[in-house]
Amino acid sequence: MNYISTRGQAPSLSFEEAMLTGLARDGGLYLPERIPQMDAADIRALAGVRYEEAAFRVMRPFIGDAFTDAEFREIIDRAYAGFGHAARAPLVQLESGHFLLELFHGPTLAFKDFAMQLIGQMFEASLKRSGKRVSIVGATSGDTGSAAIEAFRGLDAVDVFILYPHGRVSEVQRRQMTTPTEANVHALAIDGHFDDAQARVKDMFNDFDFRDGVRLAGVNSINWARVLAQVVYYFTSAVSLGAPDRKVSFTVPTGNFGDVFAGWIARAMGLPIDRLVVATNRNDILHRCLATGEYRPEGVVPTISPSMDIQVSSNFERALYYAYDHDGRAVAQVMDELKASGTTISQGALQSLREGFHSGRCDEEDTSATIRATWDATGELLCPHTAVGVQVANAQRDPAVPMITLATAHPAKFPDAVETASGIHPPLPERMADLYDRPERVTRVANDLGAIETLIKERIPH
Ligand SMILES: *Cc1c(COP(=O)(O)O)cnc(C)c1O
Repeated sequence: MNYISTRGQAPSLSFEEAMLTGLARDGGLYLPERIPQMDAADIRALAGVRYEEAAFRVMRPFIGDAFTDAEFREIIDRAYAGFGHAARAPLVQLESGHFLLELFHGPTLAFKDFAMQLIGQMFEASLKRSGKRVSIVGATSGDTGSAAIEAFRGLDAVDVFILYPHGRVSEVQRRQMTTPTEANVHALAIDGHFDDAQARVKDMFNDFDFRDGVRLAGVNSINWARVLAQVVYYFTSAVSLGAPDRKVSFTVPTGNFGDVFAGWIARAMGLPIDRLVVATNRNDILHRCLATGEYRPEGVVPTISPSMDIQVSSNFERALYYAYDHDGRAVAQVMDELKASGTTISQGALQSLREGFHSGRCDEEDTSATIRATWDATGELLCPHTAVGVQVANAQRDPAVPMITLATAHPAKFPDAVETASGIHPPLPERMADLYDRPERVTRVANDLGAIETLIKERIPH
C-alpha cells in the first residue's frame, strides 16, 4: 500500500515512511492510494471480538509490510494496555436512539490517546529496527500534546517537543504536559494561539535543512497513522448497534477534522454510516463552509471547549482532495487562497462535501445548558466538547437512525467549565489523582520560527 500527497507533487511513500514523516514535502497530507474495502461479512464478523482484534482487522490492509501480523498484534496490545476500561471504547446510552461513545479511558483522558498510544508503539518498533533517532514536534490546543508526551515519554530514540498556546489550555492539560520528568520531554509554551503554534510546526517541516538536520517527525493530526487508528472505533461502535445490517449516524465534536475524517474513511471502507455530523463551537469555519461554500477564517475566539478552538482545520484538506476528485493542483490552489484571505469552494466540490458531511454549531450558552440538561436527565457528566456534540446531534437526529455522539474527553479534564455548568466537580480518576501535586517544567517561547528552531537544535543530544 502506497501513500500519496493531497497536493500531488511529493513522491509516494510506504505506510512506515508516511508515518515517520507526517507532512508531505509539497506541503500536502498523505492518503492511501486506494481505500481498502470491508464487505458486509467482514463487518458482521467484528461483532463480539476484543477491541484489539477489531483494530487489527480494520487497520491491517493499510499498513502494507511495515510490520508482520505478529508484530502488529503486539503493537496494538501494548498501545491499549494502559486504558482504564476493558472495552477501550465503551458505548453508553443517553436516551432512546442516542448513544455516547466514551473515548476518554486512555492515560490522558481524551480520544487522542487512541491514536497516540498506537503511534508511540509503532515509532518505537520502527526506530528500533533502523537504529535511527527522531525529533517529534507537535502543536497542540491541549489534548494532542498531553497524549503525545504520554505516548513518547522515556522512549530511547525520540525527543518530543510540544508547542501549546500559553495560557490557553486547561490546567489539567497543561499539567499533563509539564509534569513528566523524563529528559526527552520538552513542553514549550508559545506566545500566541493554537493556529500560531500549528503554523510554526508547518514552517519547520517546510524548512528542509532544519527538518533533515534534526530528523523531524510529526505526530499532529496530519499524520495518517493517527487518522487510521481512529477509524477503528467507528466500526466497533456501529457493529455493536447492528451494523452492517442497520445504519447508524455519528456526531463528532470537531477541531482539526481528524476524528470526523476517520469516520468518512470508515464509510468509504464500506461501513454503512448514514449521517456524519461535524459539530463545531463558535469557531465555526467548517460549519460555515459546508453551509455556504465560503471557506474563510475569521480569527479564533477562546471557548470552554478549547480543543476545538481552531480555524484552519488541517485534515479538511484530505476531504477537499476527494471533493476535488483527486486533483492535487486544485487542492494546492484552495490551500494557497485560504492562507491569503479565504476562498470559495467550487460547486462540484461543495456538493460532494455535503454528501459526505452534515454540520452544526453550538455556542457557549448552549454548551453549558447541554452539560446541565444531560446531567439532570441522565446522570452523565459531559465534557464541554462532548456537550457541543450532543447539542448538535439532538438538533440533527433522524429518529429512525441511531445516533452515536463521540465523547471526546473526560469531564475531569475540563473541571471548571463542567462545574460552572452543572454545579458538580468532576473528580480525576484515581490513577492520576496526584496530578496537581507534581512539579511543572516548561519553556516559554516567542512566536518566532528561528528562536524555536534554535532551541530544538540545542536540546537534542549531539
Ligand atoms: C482534539 C479534540 C477534538 C477535536 O478533534 P479533531 O480530530 O481535531 O477534529 C474534540 N474534542 C477533544 C476533547 C479533543 O481533544
